[in-house]
Amino acid sequence: MVVSDRHDGDFHPHRVAPDALAARQRALIGRPFWMVDQVHGTAMIDADAANRWPILGRADVIVSNGWSSRPVGVWAADCAPIALFGAAGTVVGAHAGWRGLASGVVDVAVDVLSRRGESVVAAVIGPMIHPECYAFGSDQLAAVARGVGAEAEAITSVTSDGGAALDVPAAVAAALGRRNLTPDVLGDCTGCDPRWFSHRVRGDIERHALVAWIEPARGTVEP
Ligand SMILES: [Zn+2]
Repeated sequence: MVVSDRHDGDFHPHRVAPDALAARQRALIGRPFWMVDQVHGTAMIDADAANRWPILGRADVIVSNGWSSRPVGVWAADCAPIALFGAAGTVVGAHAGWRGLASGVVDVAVDVLSRRGESVVAAVIGPMIHPECYAFGSDQLAAVARGVGAEAEAITSVTSDGGAALDVPAAVAAALGRRNLTPDVLGDCTGCDPRWFSHRVRGDIERHALVAWIEPARGTVEP
């Protein structure tokens, strides 16, 4: 798994020309990866089913099957990019902003693996905005709390100037926690740390990417 930073360039699949995006993807992981048109919803797309690159369609969950499958990328600038790794080689990427969290996008991602009877061997969250940078209204906080099955207080914090804030790391952890998953978190606050892009804090239009895949274990033969 890899998380790009600002120096790796923009991975927004609509703003970067295909040739430049292909080169940038290869520079990051050595081969192409597939993404979805993220719309803050809960739809899921199978990366192996579509014959298009780099965008497979509109969704916020992207799944890649088996040991030698396509790497999947989630692009973001404040929202949480999530990767789930299954015991049988399935990889799930998910894009979780507040709307997705309120709508249960994390459950949709976990369900992909649980429906297959595949246990989750790792859950990883990439860089995302932290509460000190994320002012938020109480109605929306209540909606997110319902969506992740937490008390509102558990996902509410304060901004650096004392206002109400959504704690995205806590909300994602709550959504994973009720599925008995404890995430590893890679990276810091996208608002505070200029290594990553931030839509909210700096108005960046570029997007970094979390890219996930599973290498076949050494000694196995790829089909
Ligand atoms: Zn911050």
